[in-house]
Amino acid sequence: MSSPSRQPNLFPDAPRRKRRTMMHVVDAGQWPDGRQIVRLTCSRCGHDTGWEEQRTVTQERRGRPCPVCNATGG
Ligand SMILES: [Zn+2]
Repeated sequence: MSSPSRQPNLFPDAPRRKRRTMMHVVDAGQWPDGRQIVRLTCSRCGHDTGWEEQRTVTQERRGRPCPVCNATGG
């Protein structure tokens, strides 16, 4: 607790920045029953959500946090 600016980085893989890696929509469509669906991928790790029911347009345009890149070590 004495030298907060020089602590070793105990979690080198933990993202320290607040900005999260976001996945973005790469394709969109709809189920046979008419529900809107989208598919997102992460440009950083390549994670692919597969087809998921679409949320609001605003939310999808912002993207979603990648569950792989934003994993908090457990
Ligand atoms: Zn990712």
